[in-house]
Amino acid sequence: MLIDLHTHSTASDGTDAPHELIDKAISRGIDVLALTDHDTVGGWNEAINALREHPSGSNMELVLGSEVSCQDDDGTSIHMLGLLFDPNYQPLIAEFEKTREHRVTRMSRIIARLNEAGIDITIDEVHAQKRDDATLGRPHLADALVAKGHVASRDEAFKIFLHNGSKFYINHYSPSPESAIHLIKQAGGVAVIAHPLASRSGRTMKPETLARLISYGLDGIEVDHRDHNDQERSELFRLAIENDLIVTGSSDYHGTGKLNQLAEFTTHPQQWERLEAKANARRVVKR
Ligand code: AMP
Ligand code: ZN
Ligand code: FE
Ligand code: FE
Repeated sequence: MLIDLHTHSTASDGTDAPHELIDKAISRGIDVLALTDHDTVGGWNEAINALREHPSGSNMELVLGSEVSCQDDDGTSIHMLGLLFDPNYQPLIAEFEKTREHRVTRMSRIIARLNEAGIDITIDEVHAQKRDDATLGRPHLADALVAKGHVASRDEAFKIFLHNGSKFYINHYSPSPESAIHLIKQAGGVAVIAHPLASRSGRTMKPETLARLISYGLDGIEVDHRDHNDQERSELFRLAIENDLIVTGSSDYHGTGKLNQLAEFTTHPQQWERLEAKANARRVVKR
């Protein structure tokens, strides 16, 4: 069983449209795929239709979700996967909208800093890199910098200009991780912390923060992820077992935007069963 519970499409900063993602996942032989674009449910309908209309008659199960941007008191950025929630639960959708609005203002401010440093790039050039309704993110700015010839790749754009420690970096409004967990669960969904100790991407949350979220009601931990080293995986696995949390593994696929390949890490079927049972309704989509 191939179960991949964290992927992105052009509804945020992935490069495959939702229907292309569904196609690729089916070709790859994936059994359960979650679509988890940043702060949006904008790709859901296209993904559902693509699965329903797929000529192969595939039995793949589609899990709809979102990767919710969160921020801790000290400004640390934290990502919370919300899976199988009710998209009609307005407080969560309203929070997504607020975050997306602030991402736009934040982008203008990052661009102003780049312009001050003599880097020629405009907000229109950034918007041109994405679908109209897509959640705007630094990867789109990276793509615009590539298009302008300032850098060769998204990765280089992040290394030189866009990483979290850069002088050009500005954060955007996002809810506290507790608030995200609360909203996801109120919406009947399941909250899984994404890549919590991702030292390989330079973003690690403090152990005490993770402990706090576990006591708050976190449902699961994304343990197997390319940004975790072996030691981080063992530590997270131990923490999950000790606290009876669900353990997931996933690709965090972004199309050509990142090296991550579909199903490069996967979730154990028993863990997926537990996860699905935690939602307050059966929301998995099948043909
Ligand atoms: P933002 O949501 O605007 O803060 O941008 C964060 C996004 O940038 C995340 O979804 C990451 O997947 C992506 N990202 C971070 N570092 C890199 C990198 N080196 N190459 C490509 N994408 C990256
Ligand atoms: Zn992303
Ligand atoms: Fe993330
Ligand atoms: Fe992600």
